[in-house]
Amino acid sequence: PARPATAPRLRPDDVFIAVKTTQKNHGPRLGLLLSTWISRARQQTFIFTDGDDPELQLQGGSHVINTNCSAVHTRQALCCKMSVEYDTFIESKRKWFCHVDDDNYVNPRGLFRLLSSFSPSQDVYLGRPSLDHPIEASERVQGGGTVTTVRFWFATGGAGFCLSRGLALKMSPWASLGSFMSTAERVRLPDDCTVGYIVEGLLGARLLPSSLFHSHLENLQRLPPDAVLQQVTLSYGGPENPHNVVNVAGGFSLQQDPTRFKSVHCLLYPDTDWCPVHKQS
Ligand code: UDP
Ligand code: MN
Repeated sequence: PARPATAPRLRPDDVFIAVKTTQKNHGPRLGLLLSTWISRARQQTFIFTDGDDPELQLQGGSHVINTNCSAVHTRQALCCKMSVEYDTFIESKRKWFCHVDDDNYVNPRGLFRLLSSFSPSQDVYLGRPSLDHPIEASERVQGGGTVTTVRFWFATGGAGFCLSRGLALKMSPWASLGSFMSTAERVRLPDDCTVGYIVEGLLGARLLPSSLFHSHLENLQRLPPDAVLQQVTLSYGGPENPHNVVNVAGGFSLQQDPTRFKSVHCLLYPDTDWCPVHKQS
């Protein structure tokens, strides 16, 4: 659905970017994001965590939200966070909801460019499919013991995904005020799959696959170096898979910048004060 010529132009603050994190990642992961891409998208970014951290609060202010969800990696806890992200977005009146993990780099200009080509009042669900086929889930319908099979596509949460306000509003019977958790229980699937279930399985809308979103489930080294700066999201393999990072040159070695996020950031925003200074020719 292309943006009609008469639709109002998108403003940066029409975009809501939810970053999912957890207390133990504040130090190891969030600092890097705050000093790189979040510094260029302060008004758009909201950090959803599970514990009070005065130091983080100082840096993020009202954009740091303690969900009070439990700090464990279970379906219930992760769906609890998604449910708070959703409700906070609805309340914000913004036009686009985007969700990312705390090991994602978001290219703010790339994201803005992508969203600008769609209308937020239409049904838009953008992201990278996790699988090359639709997922099949058993759907437990409330009341009776009936179980039916549903098939749907979903965008992998670890690559980031976006929903238009129009579509997000239609999701509200299954997503708002805690109902997201009971919806997830109906199919017993994680948060990102549950979003796909609501969009495709319950509303009959479609995921629009985009190859501009990236998670560490892919081989990130395969992205051509000259394409890296055009992507909307990036990620990195982390300690278990340190070689799975994007291939970019720049002023930082692998030791200085193991995730490559600093190198990417300095190529996108060379005027950043801590970036290596390039001599004028
Ligand atoms: N996460 C969380 N609570 C937890 C563990 C992880 O909210 O108990 C978040 C984490 O901050 C990240 C996302 O879930 O944004 C995915 O976690 P991670 O990258 O560690 O694992 P993956 O699923 O990508 O292997
Ligand atoms: Mn991850």
